[in-house]
Amino acid sequence: MAAPVVEASPAVRVRSNLEELGMDRMAELAGEHMSLVAAGSKTYAESLLELTDAQIAAVRERDLWRRVQKANFPYVKTLADFDFSFQPSLSRPVVEDLATMGFLERGENVVLVGSPGVGKTHIAVSLGVEAVRCRKLTYFADCQRLVDDLKRAAAKGQLERRMRFYAHLSLLILDELGYLGIDKEGADLLFQLVSRRYERRSTIVTTNVGIGAWAQVFGDPVTASAIADRVCHHCHVIRITGRSYRMKDILPDLPGRDRRDAENGE
Ligand code: ADP
Ligand code: MG
Repeated sequence: MAAPVVEASPAVRVRSNLEELGMDRMAELAGEHMSLVAAGSKTYAESLLELTDAQIAAVRERDLWRRVQKANFPYVKTLADFDFSFQPSLSRPVVEDLATMGFLERGENVVLVGSPGVGKTHIAVSLGVEAVRCRKLTYFADCQRLVDDLKRAAAKGQLERRMRFYAHLSLLILDELGYLGIDKEGADLLFQLVSRRYERRSTIVTTNVGIGAWAQVFGDPVTASAIADRVCHHCHVIRITGRSYRMKDILPDLPGRDRRDAENGE
């Protein structure tokens, strides 16, 4: 005799239905909510509202994460992770104002200048994450890699396609301008890109070289000044003059005089 078919309980079937519909967060919470409704601690409407809210929040979080991944950040950090008290040269209100994304709406640029480790990339990434949150097409590129990428595209006859990709981004983060020199061809390509974005789309540049010294980075002073001219028109220049955060765990251990010397780079 065939064994009687035992049908799964409604609670199990609800969970399985929700999973099949892709409502994973609701599926996780459904059992708990059924008990709460049965015990009278929640009305059916309250429970459904909370379950659907939780599902929507999960979908939004996943969508944000997918867009953050596409932005190519080297790490994901926000302003909440930034210790402003460690870097008094950086004005918190100025950075928080940038985080409202007004500069992006106005097509303005941001140049973060400072020595290594002071938090330039962290601030740039934080603003980038904020832009992604606002659904702005954002891309983070190491300056040298971007130049190499454009050179490769030019060599393959695909410059226009690649240029269009970078030119159309709502926010381009150009990291570490000045760490390595850029030759004439690279400078020309960068100039083309900067010109196409000029006054229309925002760029955040992080650099260890003051804007006045960009001529040395680009080898060619004429192109350098043309690039600086376009980047710096409608631009927020932020200089961070403090010490490296990477050294923070080393320096506090040094006794008074040694620490001052180390901070002064002696
Ligand atoms: P750089 O100025 O060289 O771009 P980064 O922004 O990459 O430096 O900072 C180096 C590391 O130190 C990163 O992990 C960054 O998150 C961290 N960092 C730098 N400044 C701060 C700060 N004030 N508060 C918290 N973390 C910081
Ligand atoms: Mg950096």
